[in-house]
Amino acid sequence: MRFDVLTIFPGFFAGIFENGILRRALAEELVTVGVHDLRAFTHDRHRTVDDRPFGGGEGMVLKPEPLAEALASLGIAPKAERLKGTGFSPYANPPETAGALQEAEKTIALKGHDFSRAIKAAKLAGALAPEGSFFDESPIAPHPRVILLSAQGRPFTQALARELAATERVVLICGRYEGVDERINQLYCDMELSIGDYVLSGGELAAAVVIDAAMRLVPGVLGNEASSEFESFGVADAEIVVAEDGVPRSQHGSGGLLDYPHYTRPAEFGGLRVPETLLNGDHAGIRRWRREQQLRKTLANRSDLLVGATLSKEDRKLLDAIRQEAE
Ligand code: SAM
Repeated sequence: MRFDVLTIFPGFFAGIFENGILRRALAEELVTVGVHDLRAFTHDRHRTVDDRPFGGGEGMVLKPEPLAEALASLGIAPKAERLKGTGFSPYANPPETAGALQEAEKTIALKGHDFSRAIKAAKLAGALAPEGSFFDESPIAPHPRVILLSAQGRPFTQALARELAATERVVLICGRYEGVDERINQLYCDMELSIGDYVLSGGELAAAVVIDAAMRLVPGVLGNEASSEFESFGVADAEIVVAEDGVPRSQHGSGGLLDYPHYTRPAEFGGLRVPETLLNGDHAGIRRWRREQQLRKTLANRSDLLVGATLSKEDRKLLDAIRQEAE
């Protein structure tokens, strides 16, 4: 998988990829990242990337020409051209996930590309979201995703991070000042993306967030011990995992909920003892305790997630009991 970032502050990204999982993913070439200075695509003495807004008003706007030139240098044609011949229309309704996968597989086979890893990842990720692709076309169409970081964009979620992780190439455009000339969005971008309901001074921080969240979901980036299914927003249902050695592990998927609290040694710290259930090796008990904690935390901090979560009969009973406690 490859990320390309277009920015007027390439120096912002120095250091971001030098630690932990991201560093390893790059070193092992599971992912590559290119950061491109927009000023390299200007032709005046002052290397001008911005201009005043038509219609007046505060601030400056990023000019379209350097961005278009930078995109062309990466081989990115305007959207309409990119989608020509792929069988996908940028104006079509989001397809059903299964249909999209079949279509994409057909198209990929026709074009002779090997995107088998991306297809496998998309399938493993439950083909992303039950509602289908976040983009207007197939979740894994064999062309790059061009994303404009913007406070006006669709909210960035773990489901979308999963979708990007199954994409071969993602191009991220970082705005500055009042933003980017809208024609760049119309002509080139598959999606406007927001990392939250607040206004940042530039898209660089947002791009770094998107890269981090998506990159760690690329197959092979996380070790087995840290599978992304077993954390907040994970897609798998709650279950006791029986490892290859036949030993049950009290780890389980979040089924769309927030994660449970984690503890390590010492068993007592600051006058607080680790919950007894976690110390006694009763895997069924540990699973129940963790599931209850997930439900408690989700109800307290993000009750909106309960609507789309995979809840068992046992979960619903637990939830009722937790709600009653609060009354
Ligand atoms: N005039 C814009 C508005 O009101 O929506 C704000 C522009 S902001 C100061 C400059 C740039 O920061 C944007 O073009 C965008 O690239 C980035 N940005 C700001 N907030 C963001 C957010 N919540 N998510 C993603 N990008 C953001």
